[in-house]
Amino acid sequence: MYVSDVDFLSLFSNCYSEARDKFLIDAEAAGAVLTSCRHPEPGPDGEALHLDAARIGPREADRLFVLVSGTHGPEGFCGSACQTGWLRAQAGAPLPPGVAVLLLHAHNPFGFAWGVRQTHEKIDLNRNFVAHEDAPANPLCDRFYELLGAFPDQWSDEFFEHFRATKEAFCRERGREETEKWLGYGQYKVPHGLHFGGFEPSWSRETSSRLLREHAEKARHVVLIDIHTGLGRYGYGELLSVDPVDSAGFRRSRAVFGETVTSMPGGTSVATYSAGNVSEGVRRLLPQASVVAHALEFGTWEGPQLDPVKLKCQWMLAKDRLESGEGEAMRRAYRAIFYPENDDWKELVWMRAMMVCRQALAWLEDPEKRSRTGLPETRCINEKRMP
Ligand SMILES: [Zn+2]
Repeated sequence: MYVSDVDFLSLFSNCYSEARDKFLIDAEAAGAVLTSCRHPEPGPDGEALHLDAARIGPREADRLFVLVSGTHGPEGFCGSACQTGWLRAQAGAPLPPGVAVLLLHAHNPFGFAWGVRQTHEKIDLNRNFVAHEDAPANPLCDRFYELLGAFPDQWSDEFFEHFRATKEAFCRERGREETEKWLGYGQYKVPHGLHFGGFEPSWSRETSSRLLREHAEKARHVVLIDIHTGLGRYGYGELLSVDPVDSAGFRRSRAVFGETVTSMPGGTSVATYSAGNVSEGVRRLLPQASVVAHALEFGTWEGPQLDPVKLKCQWMLAKDRLESGEGEAMRRAYRAIFYPENDDWKELVWMRAMMVCRQALAWLEDPEKRSRTGLPETRCINEKRMP
């Protein structure tokens, strides 16, 4: 089936349960083997939450493509639609011999259902994949939260103003680039602060690690894509690499995906590099395999008006106001930043996501041959020369 034959609008959902139902129906129709891991807490309507895994292809496959959704809660609306769409487009078609596909649906089911970035432990899951006994230091961030002080008991615009002024003072003193880099890097000391990576592994990390160990046991080559939203140009999906531009890892990523791969540590991407990210976590988890792992980051909206919404959401979570009427409005506003419910955005997401999936599977068909023939790093597999 061509991707253009899929009714892509029907892939996108209005709540976690609807997204999960669609995913399970299409996984079953595609002949996937399903594993559902129950989350310890319920969703906002009392519904059960799960991290679901759907596997297609033989257990003994030595090459595995992994597609992850919902690491950052409501960003899962996008990732879930891509997973369900891939299943629908794939249904019945054979995978390349020796290749299997593992779809991890709702990596952070709590955040997906409640519409918040963090897990129920108030952890940023994409900062959580560190060895906590040796968690990275972040002195700039420590100082920032010292000066910011405690979060107030009642939300006020004055608090946002205080946050903004504290950040601006850091930008003047240490430069904007340096300030943004460290405030987003991840921190392991202030539980109510932004990008808190936790004091220990979260439920989501433990669960996905168990599933990955089990399903990638025989894999020698793994390509993993963790779908995110919120940064970059509206509807465009950027492949973020955790490798420096001049590294072998980066060259290999470009051999798989072409020039659209950008480097976070190299400063060529829309996102700054963060500690404890999923990509590097999976690499450490599967030392027997060669792992090409990326976040695929779809741009949504831009503008300074988004900042207070993000801070408000952080405050609401820190103050346990998720269930209040005020909390509900904040969650709705937060979700809207990461999930533009526009047909044009959904179409762009859908086409780009399927292109990335095709590239991953084409690479996995014969990674060793592709490495030997030394595919020029500036070419995409979907690039065509004029005849
Ligand atoms: Zn994200």
